[in-house]
Amino acid sequence: MRISTFDTTLRDGTQGESIAFSVDDKLVIAQKLDDLGIDYIEGGWPGSNPKDKEFFARAGELQLQHAKLTAFGSTRFAKNPVHEDRNVQALVAAGTPVVSIFGKTWDLHVKRALGISLDENLVLIAETVKYLIDHGKEVVYDAEHFFDGYHANSDYALRTVEAAANAGAGVLCLCDTNGGTPTSRLAEIVAEVRRRFEGTIGIHTHNDSDVAVANTLAAVEAGATHVQGCMNGYGERCGNANLASVISNLELKLGHTTIGSDKLASLTSVCRFISELANLPLRNDQPFVGRSAFAHKGGVHVSAVLKDSATYEHIKPELVGNRQRVLVSDLSGRGNIMYKLKQHGLADRLDEGARAELLERIKQMEYEGYELEAAEGTFELLVREALHPGTQFFDVESYEVATRATANGPSHSTATVTVKANDGVHSSTANGHGPFHALHVCLRKCLSKLYPQIADVRLTDYKVRVLDSYQGTAAKVRVLIEWSDHKRSWTTVGVSDNVIEASWKALVDAIRLELMRLTEKDTSIEKAVEDYCWGV
Ligand SMILES: [Zn+2]
Repeated sequence: MRISTFDTTLRDGTQGESIAFSVDDKLVIAQKLDDLGIDYIEGGWPGSNPKDKEFFARAGELQLQHAKLTAFGSTRFAKNPVHEDRNVQALVAAGTPVVSIFGKTWDLHVKRALGISLDENLVLIAETVKYLIDHGKEVVYDAEHFFDGYHANSDYALRTVEAAANAGAGVLCLCDTNGGTPTSRLAEIVAEVRRRFEGTIGIHTHNDSDVAVANTLAAVEAGATHVQGCMNGYGERCGNANLASVISNLELKLGHTTIGSDKLASLTSVCRFISELANLPLRNDQPFVGRSAFAHKGGVHVSAVLKDSATYEHIKPELVGNRQRVLVSDLSGRGNIMYKLKQHGLADRLDEGARAELLERIKQMEYEGYELEAAEGTFELLVREALHPGTQFFDVESYEVATRATANGPSHSTATVTVKANDGVHSSTANGHGPFHALHVCLRKCLSKLYPQIADVRLTDYKVRVLDSYQGTAAKVRVLIEWSDHKRSWTTVGVSDNVIEASWKALVDAIRLELMRLTEKDTSIEKAVEDYCWGV
Protein backbone atom coordinates (compact mmCIF):
# COMPACT_ATOMS: atom_id res chain seq x y z
CA MET A 1 0.00 0.00 0.00
CA ARG A 2 1.12 3.57 -0.57
CA ILE A 3 1.89 5.24 2.77
CA SER A 4 2.42 9.00 2.74
CA THR A 5 5.42 10.42 4.58
CA PHE A 6 5.34 13.61 6.62
CA ASP A 7 8.67 14.94 7.87
CA THR A 8 8.74 17.30 10.83
CA THR A 9 12.52 17.54 11.34
CA LEU A 10 12.30 21.27 10.72
CA ARG A 11 9.51 21.80 13.27
CA ASP A 12 9.24 19.08 15.94
CA GLY A 13 12.88 18.08 15.32
CA THR A 14 14.14 21.54 16.20
CA GLN A 15 12.50 21.20 19.61
CA GLY A 16 15.21 18.65 20.48
CA GLU A 17 17.59 19.98 23.12
CA SER A 18 20.74 20.10 20.96
CA ILE A 19 19.17 21.04 17.65
CA ALA A 20 19.34 24.50 16.16
CA PHE A 21 19.03 25.11 12.43
CA SER A 22 19.52 28.46 10.76
CA VAL A 23 17.00 29.51 8.12
CA ASP A 24 19.59 28.66 5.47
CA ASP A 25 20.05 25.19 7.01
CA LYS A 26 16.30 24.66 6.98
CA LEU A 27 16.02 25.58 3.32
CA VAL A 28 18.84 23.21 2.35
CA ILE A 29 17.34 20.38 4.42
CA ALA A 30 13.89 20.93 2.88
CA GLN A 31 15.45 20.60 -0.57
CA LYS A 32 17.21 17.40 0.48
CA LEU A 33 13.98 15.92 1.87
CA ASP A 34 12.25 16.74 -1.40
CA ASP A 35 15.02 14.98 -3.33
CA LEU A 36 14.48 11.99 -1.05
CA GLY A 37 10.83 11.82 -2.08
CA ILE A 38 9.18 12.85 1.19
CA ASP A 39 5.51 13.82 0.62
CA TYR A 40 5.06 16.56 3.23
CA ILE A 41 7.74 18.80 4.75
CA GLU A 42 6.63 20.65 7.85
CA GLY A 43 8.77 23.78 7.84
CA GLY A 44 7.87 25.37 11.16
CA TRP A 45 5.33 27.35 13.12
CA PRO A 46 5.05 30.77 11.46
CA GLY A 47 2.99 32.20 14.31
CA SER A 48 5.50 31.23 17.00
CA ASN A 49 8.86 32.74 16.06
CA PRO A 50 10.53 35.07 13.55
CA LYS A 51 12.91 32.39 12.24
CA ASP A 52 10.04 30.19 11.09
CA LYS A 53 8.27 33.19 9.62
CA GLU A 54 11.40 34.03 7.63
CA PHE A 55 11.67 30.42 6.48
CA PHE A 56 8.22 30.58 4.91
CA ALA A 57 8.94 34.04 3.47
CA ARG A 58 11.99 32.56 1.72
CA ALA A 59 10.35 29.26 0.76
CA GLY A 60 10.01 30.61 -2.79
CA GLU A 61 13.76 29.93 -3.12
CA LEU A 62 13.01 26.22 -2.91
CA GLN A 63 12.51 24.17 -6.02
CA LEU A 64 10.35 21.38 -4.71
CA GLN A 65 9.67 18.67 -7.26
CA HIS A 66 7.44 16.48 -5.17
CA ALA A 67 6.95 17.50 -1.55
CA LYS A 68 4.22 19.78 -0.26
CA LEU A 69 5.48 22.40 2.12
CA THR A 70 3.46 22.51 5.33
CA ALA A 71 3.02 25.21 7.97
CA PHE A 72 2.19 24.21 11.54
CA GLY A 73 0.03 25.93 14.11
CA SER A 74 -2.75 25.50 16.62
CA THR A 75 -6.50 25.86 16.54
CA ARG A 76 -7.64 29.42 17.15
CA PHE A 77 -7.53 30.91 20.62
CA ALA A 78 -10.85 30.59 22.42
CA LYS A 79 -11.27 34.34 22.78
CA ASN A 80 -10.55 35.18 19.10
CA PRO A 81 -12.93 34.86 16.20
CA VAL A 82 -11.08 32.69 13.68
CA HIS A 83 -10.60 35.47 11.10
CA GLU A 84 -8.99 37.68 13.77
CA ASP A 85 -6.75 35.02 15.29
CA ARG A 86 -3.13 36.01 14.60
CA ASN A 87 -1.87 32.44 14.67
CA VAL A 88 -4.42 31.30 12.10
CA GLN A 89 -3.72 34.37 9.96
CA ALA A 90 0.00 33.57 10.05
CA LEU A 91 -0.83 30.06 8.78
CA VAL A 92 -2.77 31.49 5.85
CA ALA A 93 -0.02 34.04 5.15
CA ALA A 94 2.69 31.38 5.12
CA GLY A 95 1.52 30.58 1.61
CA THR A 96 1.94 26.80 1.84
CA PRO A 97 -0.44 24.38 0.11
CA VAL A 98 -0.81 22.39 3.35
CA VAL A 99 -1.39 23.42 6.94
CA SER A 100 -1.14 21.12 9.93
CA ILE A 101 -2.95 22.27 13.04
CA PHE A 102 -3.11 20.66 16.41
CA GLY A 103 -6.13 20.64 18.63
CA LYS A 104 -6.89 19.33 22.09
CA THR A 105 -8.20 15.79 22.49
CA TRP A 106 -7.74 15.17 26.18
CA ASP A 107 -10.56 16.51 28.35
CA LEU A 108 -8.05 17.28 31.10
CA HIS A 109 -6.19 19.65 28.76
CA VAL A 110 -9.38 21.31 27.54
CA LYS A 111 -10.49 22.07 31.07
CA ARG A 112 -7.10 22.82 32.64
CA ALA A 113 -4.92 24.21 29.87
CA LEU A 114 -7.53 26.01 27.76
CA GLY A 115 -10.02 26.60 30.56
CA ILE A 116 -13.00 26.16 28.24
CA SER A 117 -15.89 23.72 28.01
CA LEU A 118 -15.58 20.47 26.07
CA ASP A 119 -18.14 21.66 23.51
CA GLU A 120 -16.34 24.96 22.97
CA ASN A 121 -13.17 23.04 22.10
CA LEU A 122 -15.08 21.16 19.39
CA VAL A 123 -16.12 24.50 17.92
CA LEU A 124 -12.51 25.74 17.90
CA ILE A 125 -11.41 22.65 16.01
CA ALA A 126 -14.23 22.73 13.47
CA GLU A 127 -14.01 26.47 12.78
CA THR A 128 -10.25 26.50 12.37
CA VAL A 129 -10.19 23.52 10.02
CA LYS A 130 -13.03 24.94 7.94
CA TYR A 131 -11.48 28.42 7.76
CA LEU A 132 -8.20 27.02 6.44
CA ILE A 133 -9.96 24.82 3.90
CA ASP A 134 -11.99 27.84 2.76
CA HIS A 135 -8.64 29.54 2.18
CA GLY A 136 -7.54 26.78 -0.15
CA LYS A 137 -5.42 24.76 2.26
CA GLU A 138 -5.14 21.02 2.58
CA VAL A 139 -5.44 20.41 6.34
CA VAL A 140 -3.63 17.78 8.36
CA TYR A 141 -5.34 17.69 11.74
CA ASP A 142 -2.98 16.67 14.57
CA ALA A 143 -5.01 15.28 17.45
CA GLU A 144 -2.69 16.18 20.30
CA HIS A 145 -2.44 13.66 23.19
CA PHE A 146 -4.88 11.47 21.30
CA PHE A 147 -3.96 8.22 23.03
CA ASP A 148 -3.86 9.67 26.55
CA GLY A 149 -7.10 11.49 25.82
CA TYR A 150 -8.68 8.31 24.50
CA HIS A 151 -7.55 6.43 27.58
CA ALA A 152 -9.13 9.07 29.84
CA ASN A 153 -12.34 9.67 27.88
CA SER A 154 -12.60 7.74 24.63
CA ASP A 155 -15.96 9.17 23.74
CA TYR A 156 -14.75 12.74 23.88
CA ALA A 157 -11.47 11.97 22.09
CA LEU A 158 -13.42 10.50 19.18
CA ARG A 159 -15.71 13.54 19.09
CA THR A 160 -12.69 15.86 18.62
CA VAL A 161 -11.45 14.01 15.54
CA GLU A 162 -15.03 13.78 14.31
CA ALA A 163 -15.22 17.59 14.50
CA ALA A 164 -12.07 17.86 12.38
CA ALA A 165 -13.27 15.22 9.91
CA ASN A 166 -16.67 16.83 9.45
CA ALA A 167 -15.00 20.21 8.85
CA GLY A 168 -13.01 18.64 6.00
CA ALA A 169 -9.57 17.76 7.40
CA GLY A 170 -7.71 15.63 4.84
CA VAL A 171 -5.68 13.68 7.39
CA LEU A 172 -6.70 12.77 10.94
CA CYS A 173 -3.32 12.36 12.58
CA LEU A 174 -3.33 10.64 15.96
CA CYS A 175 -0.52 11.91 18.18
CA ASP A 176 1.19 10.09 21.03
CA THR A 177 2.43 13.44 22.24
CA ASN A 178 3.87 12.25 25.56
CA GLY A 179 5.36 9.14 23.96
CA GLY A 180 4.12 6.88 26.71
CA THR A 181 1.61 4.60 25.01
CA PRO A 182 2.47 0.88 24.86
CA THR A 183 2.41 -0.55 21.34
CA SER A 184 -0.47 -3.00 21.79
CA ARG A 185 -2.76 -0.33 23.30
CA LEU A 186 -1.87 2.16 20.59
CA ALA A 187 -2.60 -0.35 17.82
CA GLU A 188 -6.03 -1.19 19.29
CA ILE A 189 -6.98 2.49 19.43
CA VAL A 190 -5.82 3.16 15.87
CA ALA A 191 -7.88 0.18 14.69
CA GLU A 192 -10.94 1.58 16.47
CA VAL A 193 -10.49 5.00 14.84
CA ARG A 194 -9.99 3.28 11.49
CA ARG A 195 -13.35 1.48 11.91
CA ARG A 196 -15.20 4.71 12.68
CA PHE A 197 -13.76 7.15 10.12
CA GLU A 198 -13.32 7.24 6.38
CA GLY A 199 -10.28 8.93 4.86
CA THR A 200 -6.64 9.08 5.84
CA ILE A 201 -5.54 8.23 9.38
CA GLY A 202 -2.08 9.49 10.35
CA ILE A 203 0.27 8.61 13.19
CA HIS A 204 2.69 10.89 15.08
CA THR A 205 4.66 9.29 17.91
CA HIS A 206 7.33 10.35 20.36
CA ASN A 207 10.06 8.10 21.67
CA ASP A 208 9.80 8.52 25.45
CA SER A 209 9.23 4.78 25.89
CA ASP A 210 11.73 3.87 23.14
CA VAL A 211 8.97 2.42 20.97
CA ALA A 212 8.17 5.33 18.64
CA VAL A 213 9.17 3.47 15.48
CA ALA A 214 7.41 0.29 16.62
CA ASN A 215 4.29 2.30 17.45
CA THR A 216 4.32 3.93 14.03
CA LEU A 217 4.62 0.57 12.29
CA ALA A 218 1.89 -0.93 14.49
CA ALA A 219 -0.37 2.00 13.62
CA VAL A 220 0.20 1.34 9.91
CA GLU A 221 -0.66 -2.31 10.41
CA ALA A 222 -3.85 -1.15 12.17
CA GLY A 223 -4.86 1.04 9.23
CA ALA A 224 -2.90 4.32 9.32
CA THR A 225 -1.63 5.40 5.89
CA HIS A 226 0.20 8.60 6.80
CA VAL A 227 3.36 8.55 8.97
CA GLN A 228 4.97 11.49 10.67
CA GLY A 229 8.48 11.61 12.11
CA CYS A 230 11.90 13.27 12.14
CA MET A 231 15.05 12.19 10.35
CA ASN A 232 17.55 10.64 12.79
CA GLY A 233 14.82 10.61 15.43
CA TYR A 234 15.42 14.23 16.46
CA GLY A 235 12.73 15.91 18.53
CA GLU A 236 11.59 17.10 21.90
CA ARG A 237 12.77 15.13 24.99
CA CYS A 238 13.66 11.65 23.66
CA GLY A 239 12.81 12.55 20.09
CA ASN A 240 10.17 11.73 17.52
CA ALA A 241 9.78 8.48 15.61
CA ASN A 242 12.88 8.19 13.42
CA LEU A 243 11.42 8.66 9.96
CA ALA A 244 14.46 7.02 8.33
CA SER A 245 13.80 3.80 10.27
CA VAL A 246 10.04 4.03 9.69
CA ILE A 247 10.53 4.36 5.93
CA SER A 248 13.08 1.54 5.80
CA ASN A 249 10.82 -0.82 7.71
CA LEU A 250 7.73 0.03 5.68
CA GLU A 251 9.59 -0.44 2.40
CA LEU A 252 11.78 -3.41 3.21
CA LYS A 253 9.85 -5.36 5.84
CA LEU A 254 6.17 -4.64 5.47
CA GLY A 255 5.80 -4.41 1.71
CA HIS A 256 4.53 -0.82 1.57
CA THR A 257 5.64 1.97 -0.74
CA THR A 258 6.79 5.31 0.66
CA ILE A 259 9.65 7.01 -1.18
CA GLY A 260 10.32 3.99 -3.42
CA SER A 261 13.36 1.75 -3.66
CA ASP A 262 15.45 4.09 -5.85
CA LYS A 263 15.22 6.96 -3.40
CA LEU A 264 15.69 4.60 -0.46
CA ALA A 265 19.24 4.00 -1.67
CA SER A 266 20.09 7.62 -0.82
CA LEU A 267 18.68 7.43 2.73
CA THR A 268 22.06 7.03 4.46
CA SER A 269 23.58 10.04 2.76
CA VAL A 270 20.53 12.21 3.55
CA CYS A 271 20.68 11.21 7.25
CA ARG A 272 24.39 12.07 7.35
CA PHE A 273 23.84 15.35 5.60
CA ILE A 274 21.18 16.37 8.11
CA SER A 275 23.32 15.30 11.06
CA GLU A 276 26.15 17.46 9.74
CA LEU A 277 23.91 20.49 9.52
CA ALA A 278 22.61 19.70 13.02
CA ASN A 279 26.26 19.56 14.10
CA LEU A 280 25.58 16.27 15.84
CA PRO A 281 27.47 13.13 14.88
CA LEU A 282 25.23 10.51 13.30
CA ARG A 283 24.96 7.76 15.91
CA ASN A 284 27.17 4.87 14.84
CA ASP A 285 24.57 2.39 16.07
CA GLN A 286 21.66 4.12 14.37
CA PRO A 287 19.70 1.33 12.67
CA PHE A 288 19.88 1.11 8.87
CA VAL A 289 22.07 4.20 8.32
CA GLY A 290 24.71 4.25 11.11
CA ARG A 291 28.35 3.35 10.40
CA SER A 292 28.08 0.30 12.62
CA ALA A 293 24.70 -0.88 11.30
CA PHE A 294 26.43 -3.47 9.12
CA ALA A 295 29.85 -3.64 10.82
CA HIS A 296 31.17 -7.03 11.85
CA LYS A 297 33.75 -7.59 14.51
CA GLY A 298 33.45 -11.07 16.02
CA GLY A 299 35.50 -13.61 14.05
CA VAL A 300 32.63 -16.10 13.73
CA HIS A 301 30.32 -13.40 12.39
CA VAL A 302 32.92 -12.20 9.93
CA SER A 303 33.73 -15.56 8.44
CA ALA A 304 29.99 -16.22 8.08
CA VAL A 305 29.11 -12.89 6.40
CA LEU A 306 31.97 -13.40 3.99
CA LYS A 307 30.26 -16.60 2.85
CA ASP A 308 26.74 -15.14 2.89
CA SER A 309 25.94 -11.68 4.23
CA ALA A 310 22.40 -12.79 5.17
CA THR A 311 23.87 -14.80 8.04
CA TYR A 312 24.32 -11.68 10.18
CA GLU A 313 22.59 -8.89 8.23
CA HIS A 314 18.83 -8.34 8.27
CA ILE A 315 18.86 -6.50 4.93
CA LYS A 316 21.37 -5.78 2.21
CA PRO A 317 23.02 -2.52 3.35
CA GLU A 318 23.07 -1.13 -0.20
CA LEU A 319 19.25 -0.95 -0.17
CA VAL A 320 19.47 2.02 2.21
CA GLY A 321 22.76 3.31 0.80
CA ASN A 322 24.88 1.90 3.62
CA ARG A 323 27.80 -0.53 3.42
CA GLN A 324 29.06 -3.64 5.08
CA ARG A 325 32.19 -3.07 7.15
CA VAL A 326 34.62 -5.47 8.72
CA LEU A 327 36.43 -4.21 11.79
CA VAL A 328 39.96 -4.97 12.79
CA SER A 329 39.90 -6.35 16.27
CA ASP A 330 41.45 -8.80 18.65
CA LEU A 331 38.06 -10.54 18.60
CA SER A 332 38.46 -11.25 14.94
CA GLY A 333 39.61 -14.29 13.12
CA ARG A 334 41.77 -14.15 10.03
CA GLY A 335 38.64 -13.53 7.94
CA ASN A 336 38.56 -9.90 9.05
CA ILE A 337 42.11 -9.13 8.21
CA MET A 338 41.93 -10.70 4.79
CA TYR A 339 38.55 -9.34 3.87
CA LYS A 340 39.44 -5.93 2.50
CA LEU A 341 42.89 -6.95 1.39
CA LYS A 342 41.20 -9.50 -0.83
CA GLN A 343 38.65 -7.00 -2.05
CA HIS A 344 41.45 -4.76 -3.26
CA GLY A 345 43.65 -7.47 -4.65
CA LEU A 346 46.22 -7.16 -1.88
CA ALA A 347 45.79 -10.55 -0.28
CA ASP A 348 47.60 -12.32 -3.10
CA ARG A 349 50.59 -10.08 -2.57
CA LEU A 350 51.11 -11.53 0.91
CA ASP A 351 52.16 -15.14 1.24
CA GLU A 352 50.63 -17.42 3.85
CA GLY A 353 53.39 -16.71 6.36
CA ALA A 354 53.17 -12.94 5.92
CA ARG A 355 49.40 -12.99 6.39
CA ALA A 356 49.64 -14.98 9.58
CA GLU A 357 52.37 -12.69 10.86
CA LEU A 358 50.32 -9.57 10.14
CA LEU A 359 47.31 -11.01 11.93
CA GLU A 360 49.43 -12.00 14.93
CA ARG A 361 50.98 -8.55 15.10
CA ILE A 362 47.58 -6.88 15.05
CA LYS A 363 46.21 -9.21 17.72
CA GLN A 364 49.20 -8.61 19.95
CA MET A 365 48.96 -4.83 19.55
CA GLU A 366 45.26 -4.76 20.34
CA TYR A 367 45.93 -6.91 23.39
CA GLU A 368 48.44 -4.30 24.54
CA GLY A 369 45.84 -1.58 24.20
CA TYR A 370 46.26 -0.33 20.64
CA GLU A 371 43.03 0.65 18.95
CA LEU A 372 43.52 0.17 15.25
CA GLU A 373 39.92 0.86 14.23
CA ALA A 374 40.52 4.49 15.18
CA ALA A 375 44.13 4.62 13.94
CA GLU A 376 44.08 3.84 10.27
CA GLY A 377 47.53 5.40 9.84
CA THR A 378 49.17 2.83 12.10
CA PHE A 379 47.18 0.06 10.46
CA GLU A 380 48.26 1.21 7.00
CA LEU A 381 51.87 1.19 8.17
CA LEU A 382 51.47 -2.42 9.34
CA VAL A 383 50.05 -3.48 5.97
CA ARG A 384 52.77 -1.64 4.09
CA GLU A 385 55.50 -3.18 6.26
CA ALA A 386 54.04 -6.63 5.62
CA LEU A 387 54.11 -5.95 1.88
CA HIS A 388 57.60 -4.46 1.94
CA PRO A 389 59.48 -6.23 4.72
CA GLY A 390 62.73 -4.63 5.84
CA THR A 391 61.76 -1.10 4.84
CA GLN A 392 62.45 0.82 8.01
CA PHE A 393 64.04 4.06 6.67
CA PHE A 394 65.59 4.80 10.04
CA ASP A 395 66.20 3.33 13.47
CA VAL A 396 65.89 5.36 16.62
CA GLU A 397 69.12 5.27 18.60
CA SER A 398 67.92 7.46 21.46
CA TYR A 399 65.66 10.32 22.41
CA GLU A 400 65.34 12.48 25.46
CA VAL A 401 63.29 15.47 26.44
CA ALA A 402 63.32 17.84 29.40
CA THR A 403 60.88 20.49 30.50
CA ARG A 404 61.95 23.32 32.77
CA ALA A 405 59.70 25.87 34.39
CA THR A 406 60.17 28.61 36.96
CA ALA A 407 57.55 29.79 39.43
CA ASN A 408 56.19 32.61 37.29
CA GLY A 409 57.69 32.08 33.85
CA PRO A 410 56.52 29.90 30.97
CA SER A 411 57.85 26.36 30.65
CA HIS A 412 60.47 25.39 28.05
CA SER A 413 60.95 21.95 26.56
CA THR A 414 64.14 20.79 24.91
CA ALA A 415 64.59 17.49 23.13
CA THR A 416 67.51 15.60 21.62
CA VAL A 417 67.00 12.80 19.12
CA THR A 418 69.52 10.50 17.47
CA VAL A 419 68.55 8.25 14.55
CA LYS A 420 70.47 5.92 12.29
CA ALA A 421 69.51 6.21 8.62
CA ASN A 422 70.95 4.80 5.39
CA ASP A 423 73.58 7.52 5.16
CA GLY A 424 74.74 7.42 8.77
CA VAL A 425 73.80 8.74 12.21
CA HIS A 426 71.88 12.01 12.59
CA SER A 427 71.44 13.88 15.81
CA SER A 428 69.64 17.10 16.60
CA THR A 429 68.42 19.22 19.46
CA ALA A 430 65.39 21.50 19.39
CA ASN A 431 63.09 23.52 21.60
CA GLY A 432 59.33 23.25 21.46
CA HIS A 433 56.12 24.52 23.01
CA GLY A 434 55.91 21.29 24.97
CA PRO A 435 57.82 18.01 25.18
CA PHE A 436 55.98 16.37 22.28
CA HIS A 437 56.41 19.39 20.05
CA ALA A 438 60.14 19.49 20.82
CA LEU A 439 60.51 15.79 19.93
CA HIS A 440 58.52 16.28 16.75
CA VAL A 441 60.71 19.17 15.58
CA CYS A 442 63.85 17.19 16.43
CA LEU A 443 62.88 14.06 14.55
CA ARG A 444 61.95 16.01 11.44
CA LYS A 445 65.26 17.92 11.64
CA CYS A 446 67.18 14.65 11.84
CA LEU A 447 65.52 13.32 8.70
CA SER A 448 65.09 16.51 6.69
CA LYS A 449 68.39 16.26 4.77
CA LEU A 450 67.83 12.71 3.65
CA TYR A 451 64.07 13.07 3.06
CA PRO A 452 63.31 16.75 2.36
CA GLN A 453 59.76 15.95 1.15
CA ILE A 454 58.37 14.97 4.56
CA ALA A 455 57.69 18.51 5.75
CA ASP A 456 54.18 18.57 4.28
CA VAL A 457 52.31 16.97 7.15
CA ARG A 458 50.66 18.85 10.02
CA LEU A 459 49.49 17.59 13.39
CA THR A 460 45.79 18.43 13.78
CA ASP A 461 44.64 16.65 16.93
CA TYR A 462 46.15 14.91 19.93
CA LYS A 463 44.16 12.76 22.33
CA VAL A 464 45.20 10.85 25.43
CA ARG A 465 43.11 8.10 26.98
CA VAL A 466 43.96 6.31 30.23
CA LEU A 467 43.47 2.59 29.62
CA ASP A 468 43.36 0.76 32.93
CA SER A 469 42.63 3.49 35.39
CA TYR A 470 42.30 1.11 38.35
CA GLN A 471 46.09 0.97 38.42
CA GLY A 472 46.26 4.67 39.22
CA THR A 473 49.40 6.39 38.02
CA ALA A 474 50.84 3.14 36.68
CA ALA A 475 47.99 2.97 34.16
CA LYS A 476 48.76 2.68 30.50
CA VAL A 477 47.86 5.54 28.21
CA ARG A 478 46.82 5.43 24.60
CA VAL A 479 47.80 8.45 22.52
CA LEU A 480 45.97 9.06 19.25
CA ILE A 481 47.48 11.71 16.98
CA GLU A 482 45.68 13.00 13.92
CA TRP A 483 47.71 14.23 10.95
CA SER A 484 46.76 16.03 7.78
CA ASP A 485 48.46 16.81 4.50
CA HIS A 486 45.69 19.20 3.37
CA LYS A 487 44.11 16.52 1.19
CA ARG A 488 43.19 13.97 3.83
CA SER A 489 43.78 13.09 7.44
CA TRP A 490 44.79 9.94 9.30
CA THR A 491 45.56 8.90 12.83
CA THR A 492 48.43 7.03 14.42
CA VAL A 493 48.42 5.43 17.85
CA GLY A 494 50.96 4.69 20.58
CA VAL A 495 50.50 2.86 23.88
CA SER A 496 52.77 2.94 26.93
CA ASP A 497 52.68 3.54 30.65
CA ASN A 498 54.59 6.75 29.84
CA VAL A 499 52.71 9.43 27.94
CA ILE A 500 55.89 10.72 26.26
CA GLU A 501 56.79 7.24 25.05
CA ALA A 502 53.25 6.60 23.78
CA SER A 503 53.35 9.92 21.91
CA TRP A 504 56.80 9.14 20.54
CA LYS A 505 55.60 5.78 19.15
CA ALA A 506 52.67 7.44 17.41
CA LEU A 507 55.04 10.09 16.04
CA VAL A 508 57.56 7.57 14.69
CA ASP A 509 54.74 5.60 13.03
CA ALA A 510 53.46 8.77 11.40
CA ILE A 511 56.89 9.69 9.97
CA ARG A 512 57.55 6.12 8.78
CA LEU A 513 54.16 6.09 7.10
CA GLU A 514 54.90 9.38 5.35
CA LEU A 515 58.16 7.97 4.04
CA MET A 516 56.45 4.75 2.95
CA ARG A 517 53.84 6.71 1.08
CA LEU A 518 56.47 8.82 -0.64
CA THR A 519 58.64 5.91 -1.74
CA GLU A 520 56.11 3.11 -2.26
CA LYS A 521 53.19 4.73 -4.03
CA ASP A 522 50.39 2.23 -3.66
CA THR A 523 46.94 3.78 -3.62
CA SER A 524 45.19 0.41 -3.38
CA ILE A 525 46.63 0.03 0.12
CA GLU A 526 45.25 3.40 1.19
CA LYS A 527 41.85 2.54 -0.24
CA ALA A 528 41.79 -0.80 1.55
CA VAL A 529 42.82 0.79 4.82
CA GLU A 530 40.26 3.54 4.52
CA ASP A 531 37.52 0.95 4.01
CA TYR A 532 38.78 -1.11 6.92
CA CYS A 533 38.76 1.67 9.39
CA TRP A 534 36.07 4.00 8.27
CA GLY A 535 33.78 2.20 5.86
CA VAL A 536 31.66 4.70 4.00
ZN1 LIG B 1 5.29 15.95 18.30
